[in-house]
Amino acid sequence: MITVKDIYNYINQFAPFGTQEKWDNSGFLIGDAAQEVSGVLISLDISVSALQKAGECGCNLIFSHHPVIFQPIRNLYAGSVVYQLAQKQIAAICCHTPLDIAPGGINDLIIRKLREEIALEEEMLPIEADGLGRIVTLKQACSLPEFAGIAKKALACEVVRYSAKYQEKIKKIAVCSGSGASMLEDLAGRCNCFLTGDVKHDRWYKAEELRIALLDCGHYHTEVIMIPYVAALLREAFPELNIIEFAEGNPVCYA
Ligand SMILES: [Zn+2]
Repeated sequence: MITVKDIYNYINQFAPFGTQEKWDNSGFLIGDAAQEVSGVLISLDISVSALQKAGECGCNLIFSHHPVIFQPIRNLYAGSVVYQLAQKQIAAICCHTPLDIAPGGINDLIIRKLREEIALEEEMLPIEADGLGRIVTLKQACSLPEFAGIAKKALACEVVRYSAKYQEKIKKIAVCSGSGASMLEDLAGRCNCFLTGDVKHDRWYKAEELRIALLDCGHYHTEVIMIPYVAALLREAFPELNIIEFAEGNPVCYA
């Protein structure tokens, strides 16, 4: 019998929950640790669609990257995802920044995808001392539009956004999955291109000031790559378990 706790313990080996950022809420967030697992749905978010899919596939555990409870809950109404998870006895394990930080985790997956499209030096450094983000060097400098096209292909993005005014060649690339533009100041002088997602207006100007070419590949596309990665690890560890990969698609479309 495989329990929710068994899955938690296994995830804790490759992405230890203790490595999470102070502001994060990764962990076993909903359910009964002793419950037998009938199947695991792996999703970027525990959305309404993910909840529905778990029900259809007979999964009573959802593993997600984004924590389904992030801010303290002030009310709990019947229509909410959190309420329904508890009501339907579907457990939730959410592994957010530990999966960003983990060796082989989301940021390393982005680098691996880039390597399939462009030659990168072997050496990599984290952006933050705790292991978040990566900095890697291109074997040959290229222009920002060229690199933007490569990243777009590597991450299968519909669209990418990049700094309009940046003219120089880029060589040293920093990467942070999801929404990393608050790290720009930490990157001053350490790279000349920063690939992340969810870039807000003011960050484009800060990047200009710091002479860093900013590349926004979208929150969804920089992180959805975690699904097959986690699924493969769980299948290897628990071959008898029903594992469902649920990449529901970008929640945003473009006119
Ligand atoms: Zn994210």
